[in-house]
Amino acid sequence: LPTHSLSLSLQAKMSRPVHARRLEGIDKNIWVEFVKLAATYSTVNLGQGFPDFPPPDFLKEAFVRALSGGNHMLHQYTRAFGHPPLVKMLAQLFGKLLGRDLDPMTNVMVTVGAYQALFCCFQAFIDEGDEVIIIEPFFDCYEPMVKMAGGMPVFVPLRPKPPKDGKLMSSADWQLDPAELASNFSKRTKAIVLNSPNNPLGKVFSRGELELIADLCVKHDILCISDEVYEWLIYDGKEHIRIASLPGMWDRTVTIGSAGKTFSVTGWKVGWTVGPDRLLQHLRTVHQNSVYHCATIAQEAVAQGFQRELEFYGKPESYFIQLPKELQQKRDWLVQSLDAVGMKPIIPEGTYFLVADISQFKSNVPDVPGSDEPYDSRFAKWMVKNKGLAAIPLSAFYCEAHKNNYNHFIRFCFAKEEATLKAANDILQKWKWEKTSP
Ligand code: PMP
Repeated sequence: LPTHSLSLSLQAKMSRPVHARRLEGIDKNIWVEFVKLAATYSTVNLGQGFPDFPPPDFLKEAFVRALSGGNHMLHQYTRAFGHPPLVKMLAQLFGKLLGRDLDPMTNVMVTVGAYQALFCCFQAFIDEGDEVIIIEPFFDCYEPMVKMAGGMPVFVPLRPKPPKDGKLMSSADWQLDPAELASNFSKRTKAIVLNSPNNPLGKVFSRGELELIADLCVKHDILCISDEVYEWLIYDGKEHIRIASLPGMWDRTVTIGSAGKTFSVTGWKVGWTVGPDRLLQHLRTVHQNSVYHCATIAQEAVAQGFQRELEFYGKPESYFIQLPKELQQKRDWLVQSLDAVGMKPIIPEGTYFLVADISQFKSNVPDVPGSDEPYDSRFAKWMVKNKGLAAIPLSAFYCEAHKNNYNHFIRFCFAKEEATLKAANDILQKWKWEKTSP
């Protein structure tokens, strides 16, 4: 090359930092790491949260009808803030559940999964320096999403209370300390993120706990971002209470849901937000300047799924009744498998996750003194590599400063076929036998 073009091409190589400052410190993602480990090593994957059983036939059929039926316009764009048949169904259903008339056009917005709903909320409401209260353990994306918006997450942990009489712990034994929660609200607090039923513990917040949160929201004039993606996955006759239905809360709450969890179709990525127009108008601004529009066919099929559920509401045929019934059985199998080998399960009241205590298995995976990595994370990596069983460390659901306080638990997903759960049981039994045999 002539020297002048050589020096030009050298100059063309960028030397200045290319990333925006808002990305600093949020580049790591637990799922990228653990999904890869599971794909490489696992024979039984109880890690990431998704069902390995098929979605209901009526929903698959609705998708096929939307895809190959007569209406070819379903292959084109639809309304930006939600396909009209879907927002109509969501307004009907949530209107009924929240006990108020909802306008499909202004009180509902469809998103690319609940994930994008969360992203819209943080972008729409959080300014530089605003504080956002996050209850630990939390679905991990809340923290980087708050930071990306310039906000400051403030973490308040649920505190475990040992159960009496040697009973197994329940997710209900993990509770907020009311004084601790109250002391974290300040003039800078803009919002609180609530996730009930909670991923990873499976805790279903009681009315009393929700009232405590609601009172603080009203007192300090704070928004509530309520992630209720597991709203239908509730066990033992427990009740799911929507915080937006409590006094003073409708006006300040965005309720988030997911068809992925509701109909066992996590790959469709259809989610939604429900709330007052005063809040949703700002979510629409974020949505129209980022994603703009979600896949029409998936929205059409989900709309038909909801139409069917509205027809069968409260009846035994309803998927919202059948799914938790099936999952409760799966939960109980996994509880038995874990309890039998001494990996003490914390019985979840909701969701399809279960957290178990690995303390009795510590002799298998010795601690590495001085290592920065929380013990449960090393344990989960060791387990998938050596036993073929994938799970997620609980410390992944805590902020950096609190990770090592909760480092002897792992989370399993039990939304799995009976055969998958049996295979997990076989691994655990064999492991226990190897541990105890001379
Ligand atoms: N919130 C919680 C608590 C979740 O567990 C998940 C999915 N794991 C999401 C939101 C995201 O849901 P979606 O797949 O609909 O984007």
